[in-house]
Amino acid sequence: MSRQILLGDEAVALGAVHAGLSAGYSYPGTPASEIMEYLIHLAGENKAFKATWSVNEKVAYEEALGVSFAGKRALVSFKHVGLNVAADPFMNSAITGANGGLLVVSADDPGMHSSQNEQDSRYYVQFAQIFGYEPSDQQEAYEMTREAFDLSERFGLPVLMRLVTRLSHSRSPVETRDARPQNELKKGAAKDWILLPVNARRRFGLLLDRQAEMVRFSDESRFNVLKLNEGDRSFGVIASGVAYNYFREAEAGEASLPSFLKVSTYPLPEGLIRRLVGHVDTVLVVEDGYPFIERQLKGLFGIAGKTVLGKLSGTLPASGELSPDIVRRALGRGPLPALEASGLPLAARPPQLCVGCPHADTFKALNKALEGTSGSNVFSDIGCYTLGALPPYNAIHSCVCMGASIGMARGAADVGIRPAVSVIGDSTFAHSGITPLLGAAHADSDMTVIILDNATTAMTGGQPTYGSGERLLRLIEGLGVAKEHIRTIEPLPKHHDKNVQVIKDEIGHRGLSVIVAVRECVQEQRKRRS
Ligand code: SF4
Repeated sequence: MSRQILLGDEAVALGAVHAGLSAGYSYPGTPASEIMEYLIHLAGENKAFKATWSVNEKVAYEEALGVSFAGKRALVSFKHVGLNVAADPFMNSAITGANGGLLVVSADDPGMHSSQNEQDSRYYVQFAQIFGYEPSDQQEAYEMTREAFDLSERFGLPVLMRLVTRLSHSRSPVETRDARPQNELKKGAAKDWILLPVNARRRFGLLLDRQAEMVRFSDESRFNVLKLNEGDRSFGVIASGVAYNYFREAEAGEASLPSFLKVSTYPLPEGLIRRLVGHVDTVLVVEDGYPFIERQLKGLFGIAGKTVLGKLSGTLPASGELSPDIVRRALGRGPLPALEASGLPLAARPPQLCVGCPHADTFKALNKALEGTSGSNVFSDIGCYTLGALPPYNAIHSCVCMGASIGMARGAADVGIRPAVSVIGDSTFAHSGITPLLGAAHADSDMTVIILDNATTAMTGGQPTYGSGERLLRLIEGLGVAKEHIRTIEPLPKHHDKNVQVIKDEIGHRGLSVIVAVRECVQEQRKRRS
């Protein structure tokens, strides 16, 4: 047993290693990146287990599923929107089942600190009908991770853990225990893993049969805590995950706590919820994310004679992160005393490209080349270059999800938008830009794709990229793009005029062209040289 100060993400990584992890896979994305960063650190020089960045989340999931098939324990982690990318193997793995323990960690971002939406991964737990954990602190993240692998093997199913930014990126002491050895190789029964309808129907039946056992396990879980206040039957609270801490902080210093249920596992602990709801007249549901528990409590007609308060009732805000003060207001209390900081002269620091960033030179050249055209047709992707939306560049006009820029540019070109330009980074291109470019090359769509090759996954901290340099150029040609319309530029101020001309030439071409802007991210360059 030892005690360490860990990020929530690190507690998950360490818990997995101590649970006998054989392999972990991930694609970078805030707030989940530190799980893999720490796994790589823990794997160390002697590579005690496999820990690697994958090309995208779907691939990461499939790699982890292969490990599970082989009877070993696997972790796959990503940010919440990454689960959308991995949704196909994720949903189907609930049917194949897991052989070696398989833990999926999806880190949500309530408040959209660094994300395009604040979707709630608990819906995926319900959608796949598997078991889910939602830790409230770092110690629980560690403990639940250890337990999740055992549970995955007990149910023969993948298990999902939902994190949120506030937990992933904060530190607290964690008591750790001895590591368990890795599993021996023991392959899964092939007939379970071949999802022909005849097998899939049988497997789906087994999944449904396990639902009652999962609810029972949830009801008996040590992570769910019910406390009834025998002196007050008027009001109770259901609080889940990190929001449980907000509730406890909001109640700090009060003479007595209302009845409450801390929910940390899914499917919901129905028996515990019945006991709380039976004890009080009004229930306030405090949960970060969507009104997942509140909606299930209310159902279509509500609970007879009971009042349920939460996000749906407007008692708590429907969007953004919760906080102790927000929860205090919902409990009818004023804010806790806080330090007055308004006198400090803090400068506003909006996000911006680094000084000397190659993307800045590409956007300047692109803007110049597009002068005099109809404009507003630059479809962007997700990366540092999304900041090209802001002044002084104002260079891009969409950013939806990983890889969307190429498909969207093609769709716009198909209905007559001209010029149609896509801007995508090298890592995002490898993640999900290859298949839409294959389609655009097949159709010789009238559009220009600009791939910003800075040789890294810069936005999330400089993780490796799978398609850069010569390899990227060969890949583009292999997808069927005409060699004479694959151009490279070096985005530097001294090449501005030349780069503008290349972009103008390729936009003028009636068909598909790809321009690769090749210059290393200056932050990575600094790291390499230091
Ligand atoms: S990290 Fe690299 S790619 Fe991102 S803004 Fe800075 S220099 Fe540009």
